[in-house]
Amino acid sequence: MKKLVASLSAGALVLSALTASGAVASTPEPPVKNPTSIGFGGAVSSVDPEATNIGLGVLRLGGNAVDAAVATAAALGVTEPYSAGIGGGGYFVYYNAKQRKVFTIDGRETAPASMSDTAFINPATGTAYPFAQLVTSGKSIGVPGTLATWDSALRQWGSLSLGKALKPAADLADRGFVVDQTFRGQTLDNKTRFAQIPPTAKLFLPNGDAPLVGSVFKNPELADTYKLIGKQGPSAFYGGPLAAEMAATAQNPPKTADAVLPVFPGYLTTGDLASYKVIDRAPTKVRYDGLDVYGMAPSSSGGTTVGEALNILTPQHLSQLTTPQALHTYLEASALAFADRAKYVGDPAYVNVPTQELLSPGFGAERSCLIDPDHAATKPTAAGSPDGSYSPCTAGTTTVERPDTEGLSTTHLVAADQWGNVVSYTLTIEQTGGSGITVPGRGFLLNNELTDFSAVPVAGDPNRIEAGKRPRSSMSPTIVLRGGKPFIALGSPGGSTIITTVLQTLTNRLDRGMTLPQAIAAPRASQRNTAAVTAEPPFIDAYGPDLTALGHTLVPSGDAFTSAAEIGAVAALEFLPGGAILAAAEPTRRGGGDAGTVWPIAK
Ligand code: GLU
Repeated sequence: MKKLVASLSAGALVLSALTASGAVASTPEPPVKNPTSIGFGGAVSSVDPEATNIGLGVLRLGGNAVDAAVATAAALGVTEPYSAGIGGGGYFVYYNAKQRKVFTIDGRETAPASMSDTAFINPATGTAYPFAQLVTSGKSIGVPGTLATWDSALRQWGSLSLGKALKPAADLADRGFVVDQTFRGQTLDNKTRFAQIPPTAKLFLPNGDAPLVGSVFKNPELADTYKLIGKQGPSAFYGGPLAAEMAATAQNPPKTADAVLPVFPGYLTTGDLASYKVIDRAPTKVRYDGLDVYGMAPSSSGGTTVGEALNILTPQHLSQLTTPQALHTYLEASALAFADRAKYVGDPAYVNVPTQELLSPGFGAERSCLIDPDHAATKPTAAGSPDGSYSPCTAGTTTVERPDTEGLSTTHLVAADQWGNVVSYTLTIEQTGGSGITVPGRGFLLNNELTDFSAVPVAGDPNRIEAGKRPRSSMSPTIVLRGGKPFIALGSPGGSTIITTVLQTLTNRLDRGMTLPQAIAAPRASQRNTAAVTAEPPFIDAYGPDLTALGHTLVPSGDAFTSAAEIGAVAALEFLPGGAILAAAEPTRRGGGDAGTVWPIAK
């Protein structure tokens, strides 16, 4: 799709007038959130109303889904700075209506060229440094890919320039947004470590405290960074003074004199930044229930693991099972797919990932008949053999269990336009608050994505650290086509629970008779091939007795880093008969998301 419609300059003027409105600045009211909207002309759903509104504004001015997705993502960098931003990476999945084809961009962070496979090992002890020390450190900072993703998406399919796409977010950063409990809570969860990093404390702990609910949080430094990049292009980020500052910050992270955390120096150099490239990849694809489910290929494990699990579920006919049986089967299928994920999936530039076989229906069927309808298998369950030769019920032989060190941060957005193009985009800085290290004077946090690698080098581990490699992700931006046309687009944050959240939401919608909003709101459980199933407390209340009777052990979700016991935060679209779009976001998780359509007919 080529450069913008004739009204570009007029549109941009209107856009800046709208977003620079003094009325907004003088009466700081949090925007109203709608978890669902049905309408025409395009749609956006995200976890944040400011971001969704910015995306819808772009669509209303004639921008396409890619323009809207980039503008929304840039806005999330302002309002969700602990989950996403230009200091991180992500995966962009795009359905092009004209070509009737799905494309993807791998914008994952990469390990710097000088990083060794023992980078996370303490030479004094021979064991891995404590995880919390790796998180808040230069060592975990990978070369960021988000800005290159935005640039590539806009160049290939957008109609706006990078500068125009970033402008609404720059204006938002300048005028500020009203702090809600989620933002304050996330800041408080990070307060102890943020306080040890002076530029982070200065930005996110003004007066030594997390910004109060109802106050206006501005980030003029991020606004200036966006404006600089908007003017000079991505080279202002991957080169020049900003790149030098990022590298210096990662190599010599700022910390207070009395910092308790070691805040280790890292490896990122200006050379790493200059040579960063996004990768255009073929999407993963499986057929489920007559639908084509497209996802993100490795370096993310999202597409292969969601896809394999769906193949495992195909012979099980979930829609014909009782609720406890369907949930039991979903949990068992997920465990089997996670066993294969652990053994086979890593960055395909470094590892021979059997993507095609992992996604073959024959392999799925072989794995599927290992599911005992009467009893949960002992976990961890063994990986199978995706070798092209399949017979029913071949048990796996190799059990791979490694600690899951993925954070529970990240953000997902979906956008669609009047021409039928659709974007499903997940982006992250890994942990909530990333590395905790802000680039001084630039208004954004650097990622800690490299903690997604296995910390301890083990021969044969596809996710061991290697220089230049992309750590295995779980991000699962997904687009489902029916008869070659978009039907559902969805994704979620949540570390490795992203995979189970996308899978559970899809099966809720496709097999368990739920509407999309019901499928999103339903309580979640996640089985990632571990002894216990993590589950939201309402899930345990509702299904605990039945699933326990089938041999599952359910433990409440939540981790040491966050106060919330939620799994995921879905943003999704469903394309309804007659051309309407149902946009859906979380009703309550993460404080509730916001879904909007360009011409709404119902909320
Ligand atoms: N780093 C994780 C991944 O790539 C995402 C982080 C999260 O969702 O918390 O899968």
